Amino acid sequence: MADILTEQQFASDNYSGICPEAWNAMAEANTGHAPAYGADAWTERAAEAFRNLFETDCEVFFAFNGTAANSMALASLCQSYHSVICAESAHVETDECGAPEFFSGGSKLLTAPTTDGLLTPEAVRAVAGRRSDIHFPKPRAVTITQSTETGRVYSVAQLQALSETCRSLGLRLHMDGARFANACASLQRSPAELTWKSGVDVLCFGGTKNGMAVGEAILFFDRAMAEDFDYRCKQAGQLASKMRYLSAPWVGMLESGAWLRNAEHANACARRLAAAVADVPGVSAMFPVEANAVFLSAAPDVLDALARRGWRFYTFIGGGARFMFAWDTAPERVDALARDIRACAVPVAA
Ligand SMILES: *Cc1c(COP(=O)(O)O)cnc(C)c1O
Repeated sequence: MADILTEQQFASDNYSGICPEAWNAMAEANTGHAPAYGADAWTERAAEAFRNLFETDCEVFFAFNGTAANSMALASLCQSYHSVICAESAHVETDECGAPEFFSGGSKLLTAPTTDGLLTPEAVRAVAGRRSDIHFPKPRAVTITQSTETGRVYSVAQLQALSETCRSLGLRLHMDGARFANACASLQRSPAELTWKSGVDVLCFGGTKNGMAVGEAILFFDRAMAEDFDYRCKQAGQLASKMRYLSAPWVGMLESGAWLRNAEHANACARRLAAAVADVPGVSAMFPVEANAVFLSAAPDVLDALARRGWRFYTFIGGGARFMFAWDTAPERVDALARDIRACAVPVAA
């Protein structure tokens, strides 16, 4: 029997390894010496690759992980007495251990209930309008997750409506793009259209779940907002001294187009699973499958049986069983999962 620890599992998209494009770029960077702390040619080339991809002269920074990227980005938009509006299910609220509040020195997250993690202009207005007195932190920013924690995507029209609302309320718009590539692949719109052209001020672009070992990029589309951000990265322990190993993989991902191919593949695998279990009695998709996630609701004994067959999945996000697909997902393994889901849901009478 194969070892379940090395067989592909879909509990998260960060169970996957490093894709060849990222790995090869890191190997290529591993020759000779290079200036430290980002003063090297790889880091310049990676920043330039982002500017080409986003068709704008943005400021680019690199961090080790998404929690740090989100937290530092939000901290740069706020003073300690400000607040940040987000969805109740947002990663910044549920999965970052208070890091946004910590790094901002106290900026409070104000949560709004949403459908599938999609924040709406109405929700932003409602939260921003709750209080306007001196005793409550002043709303200063909105953060949205693209694609959302439950695998939905914001359309260009939805983004534009949100950013107009933000502008009218004096709020800055941050995007948690841990799975930004999956949203681009799903919507078939350009990175520019899904960010600055739609009014997003700052993007945290996730590399880890997209196929890198580590690394997220922070893109400021308004360079003025990036003032002193390099100091913030250093203070937060996020300035890599051998920066080329954080930046070179981005060169590999962006210049080869792997960032988009990887996301397209992951999304296709999610659609494959959803289609394969669509007719299984007692099992249903909890959210429309628009990115690389499939959430299934099923009776607890069905999920228990699935776990006993060796499948790993989380049930604390969204309430059902979550399956996330990555750049390397083997379609046969998706089919095997689908067969086991069916077998667990419809046990053959002995
Ligand atoms: C994975 C993820 C992050 C980043 O998480 P880290 O573990 O800190 O890298 C941020 N936002 C969302 C929505 C995520 O899924």
